Amino acid sequence: MSEYDVLVIGGGPGGYVAAIRAAQLGFKVACVDAFSNKEGKQSLGGTCLNVGCIPSKALLDSTHKLEAVQHEYADHGIEVSGVKLDLAKLMGRKDSIVKQLTGGIQMLFKKNKVTAYHGYGTLDRQEGEQWVVKVGEEELKARHVILATGSKPRELPFFKFGGNILDNVGALSLDQIPAKLGVIGAGVIGLELGSVWRRMGSEVTALEAGGFLEIADEGIAKEALRHFQKQGMKIILNVKISRVEDLGDKVVVTYTDGNGEQTYECDKLIASVGRIPNTDNLGAAKVGLELTERGFIKIDEHYHTNLKGVYAIGDVVGGLMLAHKAEDEGVACAELIAGQAGHVNYDCVPSVIYTSPEIAWVGPTEKQLKDKGVEYKVGSFKFIANGRALAHDDTRGFVKIIADAKTDRLIAAHMIGPSVSELIGEVVTVMEFGGSAEDLARTVHAHPTLSEAVKEAAMGVDKRMIHS
Ligand code: FAD
Repeated sequence: MSEYDVLVIGGGPGGYVAAIRAAQLGFKVACVDAFSNKEGKQSLGGTCLNVGCIPSKALLDSTHKLEAVQHEYADHGIEVSGVKLDLAKLMGRKDSIVKQLTGGIQMLFKKNKVTAYHGYGTLDRQEGEQWVVKVGEEELKARHVILATGSKPRELPFFKFGGNILDNVGALSLDQIPAKLGVIGAGVIGLELGSVWRRMGSEVTALEAGGFLEIADEGIAKEALRHFQKQGMKIILNVKISRVEDLGDKVVVTYTDGNGEQTYECDKLIASVGRIPNTDNLGAAKVGLELTERGFIKIDEHYHTNLKGVYAIGDVVGGLMLAHKAEDEGVACAELIAGQAGHVNYDCVPSVIYTSPEIAWVGPTEKQLKDKGVEYKVGSFKFIANGRALAHDDTRGFVKIIADAKTDRLIAAHMIGPSVSELIGEVVTVMEFGGSAEDLARTVHAHPTLSEAVKEAAMGVDKRMIHS
């Protein structure tokens, strides 16, 4: 039986990062991951690298280029004719990016002497201070076990994935462009995947049970809705779906909205109504691993479960289901096991939606601040007044900076517009250091850059904006 100091179950952004960090700290480490690629081989990197963040961004970038060449180049005096889309090639490019990155993790494991096992890791029993984990017939022993088994797409009572009803895996690997594509759930994943296929020519309709993008700041959500509708995405809000039927040649969705019962027909339907924790194959019941009411693994503030020596991180513990949150928990957890002061500042975790325009934020929305009675000041700057955005030919959106009314300390930033997925990082850093809006406003920013919009919005907190 092979013995390790730290055994990580799950090789996604939480698990593989925890494994590498633990190895760097001098532990003998193994990582067990069940994911298999199309060839049935192990492909490390979890949901994020294989069927999530990376393939979705590869498709978003390809289709963004397609849309630019079709609709934007002419304004620059660049005439392009005979534009054709080769879907197989576009998908092949996505697959090769996934292969490159997942292969990179294999190399990082080798470099850091992390042993990878392919299969489900199941907690079996404790022998003294050691845990015995089964991978198929093989038994592995470790004093510390980190559970990083991630999440999977939720099914609802009225639909099951399969046929024309697609989860993220199906939606990222279609071999034909559906003429009519339905999306249940206009959240982050639904909007990103819907955008990909709309740009390739699908007529996309998103059916959403709530209001639009309620997780985002209200002003940002309003602006985003306007842009998505202008692009031709149909978004129907506050619907209650009662039936989804896959008839083979089409999918029929029955729902009610303000106008009574409706039916909607499409060729393919993406269902993106949230993700649930992956705890099925962990042996949770056998070893008495405690779960929350919603099925997430219960942990304390140091990622410790109710079982001594067993920790959990990433999507499987809930909170923000984001790759960077999982990664930082992986680092913190490994460092805590090594007796160091690993820590994640959950007030400074950015969220991004990689649509066009992009949407990014960190910290609470204005509504959340009002509900809590926090007194705050706001500075807001539109990209239309930013020289680089004009040169770039994308002046949609704005940056909003929120600071404490008395201390000027940065509390939040909400952005919609070009490259805000990159711009948010600067604000996160200043927030992490406990900086103020004035700190951001008095920092020299290169001209002309999109980042000047962040500086101007920070200046706006004290009504000192120059270009607005
Ligand atoms: P996962 O990445 O889910 O990895 C868990 C791994 O554990 C998987 O490989 C699974 O097969 C394996 N496993 C499960 N049970 C066992 C077991 N018993 N034994 C062994 N292995 C097991 N987040 C972002 O931050 N940015 C994005 O742009 C983004 N885009 C996304 C797009 C899509 C379409 C989707 C679906 C998700 C996206 N996410 C994004 C979310 C992100 O993928 C997750 O938050 C992240 O992957 C969570 O990491 P994790 O390590 O906790 O789990």
